Amino acid sequence: GGHWYVAIQTEKEVPDPVHPSTTAVGGDRGVANLLTLSDGTMFLPVTAYRDLQKKLAREQRKLAHKVKFSANWKKQKAKITRLHQHIAEIRKTVLHQISTAISKNHAVVVLEDLKVRNMAASATGTVESPGRNVRQKSGLNKSILDQGWGMLKQMLGYKLQWTGGLLLLVDPAYTSQICPVCGVVDAGNRKTQAEFHCLHCGHEAHADVNAAQNILARGLLGWQSTAGHAGVACFAA
Ligand SMILES: [Zn+2]
Repeated sequence: GGHWYVAIQTEKEVPDPVHPSTTAVGGDRGVANLLTLSDGTMFLPVTAYRDLQKKLAREQRKLAHKVKFSANWKKQKAKITRLHQHIAEIRKTVLHQISTAISKNHAVVVLEDLKVRNMAASATGTVESPGRNVRQKSGLNKSILDQGWGMLKQMLGYKLQWTGGLLLLVDPAYTSQICPVCGVVDAGNRKTQAEFHCLHCGHEAHADVNAAQNILARGLLGWQSTAGHAGVACFAA
């Protein structure tokens, strides 16, 4: 794609870093918001792929009409590669900005232990067992892959390690349905995509902030009781 990459590896002794902050924050990765923190901070999704998708499709159609391996075909192929690279760079830049800001401001970050690859694969299914709600799910997939949930987790992991912080991963079960006030778990609590309304005590909150607070609570609970508590995994980059 018109670029060369050079990787240089060095090794040196560094003292254990001490994180300047003492705060812990939970993060809910979503579709409407890429990431919502338990303190109410929201990060919008990276939609670079969607925005450039039409252009990509157009260029790919042009490629299909050219004679394979001809000079024009090669030129068109290079154009498509550059477009793919452009999309990836935009996504990466945004994820770096977010992960740098969070890892500087908070010593402990708790995320859900999502199996992003499994989630992406489950939509299509196999010939023997086709995926359910394929259309909706493939839309969700596109969003998941678009936003780079896995990449965000990875970046937060190593950046927190650099700064002396810690990334905790917790069991994602029911984090969107638990009421942090009365503790009741009810699917009906999640009123809409954006609203949390507890059917039992009436507690109301933004749905993603609520989930992020449950994620934080779960991470701290597991961390305090014992390291390696069931459902809590310490992330090592
Ligand atoms: Zn409640």
